[in-house]
Order: sequence, then C-alpha cells, then structure tokens
Amino acid sequence: MGKLHAEKNTSPFATALAEWFRAAARDLPWRRTRDPYRIWLSEIILQQTRVEQGLPYYEKFVERYPTVKHLALAPDDEIFRLWEGLGYYRRAQNMLRAARIVVEKYAGRFPSSYDELLKLPGIGPYTAAAVASFAFDEAVAVVDGNVARVLARFSGYAGAINTGSGPKDLQALADRFLDRRHPGRHNQAVMELGALICTPRNPRCEICPLKTGCRAYAEGRTGELPVKKAARPVQNRRMDYLLSIKDGRLSVQKRTANDIWQNLYQFPLLEGLPESRQQAARRLQMEFGLKKIPVWAGEATHLLTHRRLLLRFWMTAEKLDGYEYVPLDRLEGLSFPIVLRRFLAGKKISPNFEF
Ligand code: SF4
Repeated sequence: MGKLHAEKNTSPFATALAEWFRAAARDLPWRRTRDPYRIWLSEIILQQTRVEQGLPYYEKFVERYPTVKHLALAPDDEIFRLWEGLGYYRRAQNMLRAARIVVEKYAGRFPSSYDELLKLPGIGPYTAAAVASFAFDEAVAVVDGNVARVLARFSGYAGAINTGSGPKDLQALADRFLDRRHPGRHNQAVMELGALICTPRNPRCEICPLKTGCRAYAEGRTGELPVKKAARPVQNRRMDYLLSIKDGRLSVQKRTANDIWQNLYQFPLLEGLPESRQQAARRLQMEFGLKKIPVWAGEATHLLTHRRLLLRFWMTAEKLDGYEYVPLDRLEGLSFPIVLRRFLAGKKISPNFEF
C-alpha cells in the first residue's frame, strides 16, 4: 500500500460526493427501489453493458417476471430469447440458476448479507457488495471499473489496477473511503461519478466535487491514471455456417458444448476452414455431402471479450443429414446469438422466404 495516498478522515470525500449525487444522479428505475431482486436483476443485466442498452432489458424482465419466483419458474429458452442482444449468455444461465436457488433454498427471499449473496451463482464480490449495500445498507464497498478509476486518480495510485495487488489495494481504498452510515448511497455515488464525471477519457475535473484533494488533478496525471496492464490480444475464430432450407424449414442445432453461446441455436457449422471462399465452399460441399456447391450468402464480424468471430454464411436447398429442421415461422421463438438473428433478419428469412 506504499503507493497510496488517501485522506485519513473520509468524511470530506463522502460529504462532497453525497451532495453532488443528490443533485446530479440519473433517475434510474433500480435506484427507486430497495427490492433486492430488482437490484440484483439490474446488476446482472448491466455487467459489461451500458445503462442505455441495459435499461429496456431491465424493464422487459421486471414486467414479465415481477418477482424472483416468476423468474425461477420461467423456461430456460424463454429467458435466453428475452436476453438476446445482451451477449455473455453465461450471465443469463447463472441468473436463472441463482433465481431457482433463492426460491428453493431461501423460500423466495433474497439473502440479505454480502457473505450469503456471494454463494449464489454469477454473484462475485462486486455484485454481492452492490446488492448488500443498495438493498440492505450493509457497510461493504463496491469496486467496479468506474469506482477503481475514481479512486486510483483521487489517490494517485500508480500500480496496475487490474493485476497483482491492484484489485486488493483498490478494495482497501474503497473500504477506507466508504461512508458507513449510508453505504448504499455512497457506493452508487462513486459509481455515478465515474460514469458521468471521472470518465475514462477527458474527465470533467473542473466540475468534479472531488477536485479539491484529487491527486491526479493536482499533478496533471488524469491521462496516465489509472494504470492498466494490457489485455490479452484478441484472437480470430472463423465460423462457416450452412443454412439448408427445404420445404419451408431451416436446419438448426442447439449449441451444447461448454463454449460461447451455450444452449443457443445456430445453423450447421464448420470451423477453421481456409480463408479463401472458393476453398471453403468446396470443403463445405464435401463435409456435408452436397451435390452442388453451396451459395455464398454473406459475412459478419462479431467481437467478444478476447475473440473476434469471423462469420460466413452459405446456403443450400439440399437436405442435410442429422440436423433438426424447424419451420420458418417458428424461428422467432428460438434463441439465437444476436449476430445470427441479424443475419436471418437481413436476409428476410421468415415464413415467406423462397430459396
Ligand atoms: S478531479 Fe478529475 S480525476 Fe479527480 S476524481 Fe474528479 S474527475 Fe476524476
């Protein structure tokens, strides 16, 4: 902790922040409730998702499943269909598992302590601290990307925030600054400051309530802090999809492996084909035993955290062995990864489609 510089007395930090938050906080639906279910739902939806993007999903889920019991009873496929577009499907799977545990083990009442919350699937230290403090005012400090940035800049923390002792040091800083009388409000205020004022680029220091006492501001180092160790390089993954449409039905399969998009639907797939389209088409023809070479139908790129998916789409009117065929008017009801759904929409592959 030698790199740290922080006020011993946390109250000026907390007071300035609280005043600012009262005036500037965005009016978001999960801030109007102390219901742990709704707070948890919003936190799961907002992981790796911007507020503007997550908001309509939150509203959809709350309307359809007003309590954790409603969510726990929902069929998996219905949830994945509703989740479409949010990505990171493991989050949706863990969300469902957690809801079912809350109903079975806790009789539908969310556990009220940080330690108990941490036992639920998909709930890590950040989410447990968020739910425990926002819903139950437990004095635990949250550290997400926004909080880490604010604290690293304010304290002049020069170590990497994402490796080694970084996460622990940041947690210690957050604990030290926490307003223990109003932990929920305080946590939300730091997060909001990071989202609205202490932004990754061009922080608005001039109007920041913490500028008095902010080390990065005083030393002109807001561009350097926080320090982050570079992420793993992105790897390419090529996926060639073959859509076989026969008698108003489309070939699909459910992804079951422990991999991206687990439990979602896709089309027959080959991976690792040559970059050359001509060679790829011949390989598809051979591997799927087609009489004619498949027809080129388009391509798309899709970015995941450490991977770039290079998708190509091909079509055939020949029937493939070993695949499920779904009537075109039932495709709406299946959950596809968003990039495949967009392809279907772009090609207008709907009940009237003619190959
Ligand atoms: S003064 Fe600037 S760098 Fe410091 S906390 Fe505020 S916005 Fe961030």
